[in-house]
Amino acid sequence: MDLTQRIAYIRAMTTLDLNNPPANEPSLKNLAGMTRRELGAALSDVFGLEEKKTRMRASQLWRWIYQAGVKEFADMTDISKEMRNDLAKHFTLARPEVIERQVSTDGTRKYLLRMGPGIEVECVFIPGVGRAGALCVSSQVGCTLNCTFCHTGTQNLVRNLTAFEIIAQVLAVKDDLEEWPSDREDRNLSNIVFMGMGEPLYNLDHVANAIDVISDGEGISLSRRRITVSTSGVVPEMARLGEETSAMLAISLHATNDALRDELVPINRKYPLTELLDACRNYPGASNARRITFEYVMLKGVNDTDAEAQALVRLLKGIPAKINLIPFNPWPGAPYECSSWGRIEAFADIVNRAGYASPIRTPRGRDISAACGQLKSDSVKKRASERRREAAIS
Ligand code: SAH
Ligand code: SF4
Repeated sequence: MDLTQRIAYIRAMTTLDLNNPPANEPSLKNLAGMTRRELGAALSDVFGLEEKKTRMRASQLWRWIYQAGVKEFADMTDISKEMRNDLAKHFTLARPEVIERQVSTDGTRKYLLRMGPGIEVECVFIPGVGRAGALCVSSQVGCTLNCTFCHTGTQNLVRNLTAFEIIAQVLAVKDDLEEWPSDREDRNLSNIVFMGMGEPLYNLDHVANAIDVISDGEGISLSRRRITVSTSGVVPEMARLGEETSAMLAISLHATNDALRDELVPINRKYPLTELLDACRNYPGASNARRITFEYVMLKGVNDTDAEAQALVRLLKGIPAKINLIPFNPWPGAPYECSSWGRIEAFADIVNRAGYASPIRTPRGRDISAACGQLKSDSVKKRASERRREAAIS
């Protein structure tokens, strides 16, 4: 490879359109992950039926895909054999490839899924959280923000995930948990949290479309009240999140003054605490029945004094809030340590006495690096090594 070719190659590897992922269209279009509108359009493109018939057919397929969870058109028993064959000629219901599946001693399951070449994402199922169990999904590969305590923050953004790819995480995990049909009484997956890789409010259109699909009553049917979106504080998008999704809001707070938050959560320099808390006060639908969760990672000697617990209580005055204290989950090279249990309990006590629910989040899946802030895929590393390999060959 000469220099010009090498530059062109490196450019091709690094120039990515964040909202329009590189076309990687297999010959068969995948329907499992589409929104209702996309599903209707895909059917109409192929079969050219009139609008009403397309809508009816889309509804029928929708229930098979998202309510029954079938993976073969042949299993759609109320559709004529001829139609099923036609569908299989044009479409697929494939799931993303599960590259790795790890099960922690505490039952937490971590998955590494491959969405396309170089696009690998992690999601984590945590049993015994929420009503039955919570799935933590990723919204981006990597993250543009650099919170100093977060492992994902050390991975550059590769790109936004599409709604399809967010929904595909839910489908793949439901397959693994054998959670079909979606309306079964004993379901283990009852909650979704957008707390995996990435900042969901930098990808709100796709996140909102994914929530529409996940909460659809004729499909996966998870209540919007059991879907929580966590943000580091992208203030201008918060109202739209509430209006368009009715999802529960979680804020990664972690500090009670701007100087410290500027350091820990650098987006604070753009949207400081007063703006963030105002946006919380105005969050659509927030009430005592629908409280905002404030996440606070416990960092030894950094943000864990009694005075900071008192400051936290003052700061949240007037906001329907609950506080989630997260013991810091270490990762290789992390510049922090977790506060001691005694310190965390003393901190929780002050917050509790002020009338706030302040559960200490038990670290889950630490043995498989599945805990908060430990997620990081090899997507970037792989690309760098591929580049090196290419350079070595030329
Ligand atoms: N980007 C979004 C959502 C993903 S992070 C956000 O920042 O809110 C999900 C949660 O994990 C956030 O509250 C984040 O602050 C927390 N977190 C990140 N790294 C962590 C670590 N090492 N230990 C504990 N919690 C961490
Ligand atoms: Fe990104 Fe959230 Fe990690 Fe901050 S905490 S780097 S916003 S994923």
